Amino acid sequence: MLTLVIEHCALIIYPSFPQRTMNIASSFHFAANVVKDCVFPIFCLGCDQEGIWLCDACRGKIDTRGVFVCPLCHHFTGTGASCSACLGKSALDGHIAITGYQEHSLIGRLIAALKYQYAEDVSSVFDSIVSKFAREQAGLMSSVDVVAPVPLHRRRFAERGFNQAEIIGRIVAGALGKPFVPLLKRHRATKQQALLSRDERKQNVRDAFRLAGERNWKLETRNSGRTEERSFVGMRVLLVDDVFTTGSTMQECAKILKHAGVAGVFGFSVARG
Ligand SMILES: [Zn+2]
Ligand SMILES: [Zn+2]
Repeated sequence: MLTLVIEHCALIIYPSFPQRTMNIASSFHFAANVVKDCVFPIFCLGCDQEGIWLCDACRGKIDTRGVFVCPLCHHFTGTGASCSACLGKSALDGHIAITGYQEHSLIGRLIAALKYQYAEDVSSVFDSIVSKFAREQAGLMSSVDVVAPVPLHRRRFAERGFNQAEIIGRIVAGALGKPFVPLLKRHRATKQQALLSRDERKQNVRDAFRLAGERNWKLETRNSGRTEERSFVGMRVLLVDDVFTTGSTMQECAKILKHAGVAGVFGFSVARG
């Protein structure tokens, strides 16, 4: 009965709604989206077209040719690897980003929408941008063994309900066909990096991360129907975040991973400031 009522309401609002039998769960999901669309209509973040977070025309305006510069000094290296002058000073062996970052640019507004609005909807926009770029640049990341996100503190995670770095990391891992494993945790709550100076950012994240697992640091992969355990020692990790500005957060994460025996840490972010 409830299903029929929801279907009836949906047909009034959406005459093109397919007349099919829905189970209660999908009915609720659909009804929730109908209510959300009515109460919180969405608009393209580039041109205000209603009903979509990013229209095709605006997506085409985002420069997704990639940023391949040294993680420390911004020197162009073509692959994102640390330059020879910074080798030994950077815990990150390299970093690549899809595009440049400015807070009020289209990509800046998309990232803000992902963090502070309806992640489920906005993540579909990132899905197409991130997976396309990751597939195009798969050659640069072919030596990666595992993809890991920059973690949120559990309090921030509870407030937001998700970790945007995890959403992006899962898309990258899927596109590259690599396992996704949350290797780190943020054991100390930190201030928002965007509000701090370069030196304050370093101080803010110092000693904020730990390994998520205990001493037995294993990777489980399902291969031929069986679960396989592998040690992370000697592996190469692709560390994923939404934005890279000074790099303090990723450098701190990379230090922890290398101290635990990881052989290489490469960074990946949607945008780089
Ligand atoms: Zn648009
Ligand atoms: Zn450099």
